[in-house]
Amino acid sequence: METKLRARVAVAGAGAIGSAVALTLARAGFDVTLFDPAPPGDNASGVAAGMLAPLAEAVFDPVSTPHLALLRRARDLWPAFAEGLDLEILRDGLRIEGEAGWLAGVAARLEALGAPFQRLDGVLIDAEDWRIEARPALAALRTTFEALGGAFETRAFIPDDRPAFRAVVLATGAADASGLAPELKILSPIKGQILRADRGPATGPVIRGEGVYIAPGDSPAIGATMEAGRDDLTVDPSATQGLRAAAIRLRPELAGAVMTTEVGVRAATPDGLPLVGWSATPGVMLAVGARRNGWLLAPLVADLVAAYLKGDNPGPDAASLDARRFSRT
Ligand SMILES: Cc1cc2nc3c(=O)[nH]c(=O)nc-3n(C[C@H](O)[C@H](O)[C@H](O)COP(=O)(O)OP(=O)(O)OC[C@H]3O[C@@H](n4cnc5c(N)ncnc54)[C@H](O)[C@@H]3O)c2cc1C
Repeated sequence: METKLRARVAVAGAGAIGSAVALTLARAGFDVTLFDPAPPGDNASGVAAGMLAPLAEAVFDPVSTPHLALLRRARDLWPAFAEGLDLEILRDGLRIEGEAGWLAGVAARLEALGAPFQRLDGVLIDAEDWRIEARPALAALRTTFEALGGAFETRAFIPDDRPAFRAVVLATGAADASGLAPELKILSPIKGQILRADRGPATGPVIRGEGVYIAPGDSPAIGATMEAGRDDLTVDPSATQGLRAAAIRLRPELAGAVMTTEVGVRAATPDGLPLVGWSATPGVMLAVGARRNGWLLAPLVADLVAAYLKGDNPGPDAASLDARRFSRT
């Protein structure tokens, strides 16, 4: 007989959020089936730069500024979440470089946030932002999930699947799944194009300049566009030429680099935070709308989903992420 902790749960979507949810539920003893029709990493999570960057987000993205404390709590869940995974958290921090006037404005914003940072030779340095490599991270989450007995189905979750499960968690990203939960109608797409260079910094801090970041790696990531209202995956060089030029100003050796473009679509709510919790549709739980912080927020979202399914106290961030906050009348 099905016990509470062996309840069958479906998770729709194997991006950062769905994969983290599936793993956390499997660790908690649920009988989890993860659905996704797309090849691994063929989603926004796969193209992401993998920054776990509360401070950079709060400083450079006005929508995220009010959420700094929540974003920091999310980051702080990562070490325990990553334990036992074949996944390294890179803790090289952030290096902000640029023209003196612009840098002075950034320093003022950091000070206003009460954020600790250093000035060193005309550069601002912060140690608190972290990073992971996105596609290897997705693979690590999947491997550990399956090692714990989790099942994966390479297909879309459809309404006819509902009766086989106690609950379904929709982690469907920017896909239109509003037929399964009316709250998803509030989501809007933000297309993001990111460049991958065949040379450039392989290790070290994320470098931020005016209108651009460079995340080191084997193929350093140079990002990223924010194209509100767009949900197509078309590569558009005119949208990324500014990123390319800004990156070359920061690291002139990138001038000779071959850069390829990857595209993903973020799903966003009006306040920039995801929808997490029960839908008005019985048995449907939401874990969507993480905008530009899906990797950073993944362990927090997963913990909230697990708490709701277990009937535990979901903690201090539940109200801010309430799945029905835009749909209650
Ligand atoms: C260029 C770019 C750079 C970014 N950089 C960062 C970063 O540095 N740090 C950070 O934290 N975030 C970053 N983000 C944001 C982050 O990628 C997103 O917030 C995150 O990917 C959202 O994850 P998700 O699991 O909700 O959605 P997705 O990754 O979009 O995954 C959703 C999945 O659901 C599947 N799906 C859809 N419908 C169904 C269905 N019916 N059944 C089953 N599966 C279904 C899809 O196939 C897809 O695989 C970036 C985004 C972009 C585009």
